[in-house]
Amino acid sequence: MTENKGIMLVVSGPAGSGKGTVNAMLLKRDDFAFSVSATTRAARPGEVDGVNYHFITRESFLERIDSGDMLEYTEYCGNFYGTPLKEAEEVLRSGKNLILEIEVEGAMNVKRKYPDAVLVLLLPPSYSVQEARLRGRGTETEEKILLRLARAKEEVALADCYDYVVYNYDDKADEAAAHILSIVDAEKCSIKRNDRVADKYLNS
Ligand code: 5GP
Repeated sequence: MTENKGIMLVVSGPAGSGKGTVNAMLLKRDDFAFSVSATTRAARPGEVDGVNYHFITRESFLERIDSGDMLEYTEYCGNFYGTPLKEAEEVLRSGKNLILEIEVEGAMNVKRKYPDAVLVLLLPPSYSVQEARLRGRGTETEEKILLRLARAKEEVALADCYDYVVYNYDDKADEAAAHILSIVDAEKCSIKRNDRVADKYLNS
């Protein structure tokens, strides 16, 4: 990867980690774009088709997998979720950093395909805080909450597969966003993303 290309930034976080809020802060910047995933789950109140997700049927999701249109996809708590390939490639070519707000299995698949991707695990300060946040949100049934909490335990067990961990403390989402920005800045300066340093330096 050269320094002209944007960074593929995976931000995973269990339900209640506040990843939506943190990512919204990053997306206020011109150099970040959001990968709008396709999903078969129903839209929640306030979610807009084409902005939060592309809400599509199971049938068209399976068709898109068949036609190689998904960079990665997974089945999570009974629904399909996937990253549209062409949109992702276009954004990266434009030089913007692309945020993929995806779960752990998808993150692993991205890393396998794109070793230069940067994987950040965003966590609530603790499991008990996570549980309180989820219940306070009031958007899910008890059954769904329990499913998501169980999934969170599995996700955090895979923390070692990530490059970075960032904690999102109550009312401190701006600090978590600042940490992620520092990570991206450092990655941009890494030697692996800056080829022919000596050549360019000596001949400019
Ligand atoms: P939610 O239903 O709460 O919006 O999302 C459920 C989980 O699916 C979250 O962990 C979210 O990050 C993840 N997710 C959203 N889009 C994608 C995607 O395109 N691919 C994968 N692998 N996970 C996704």
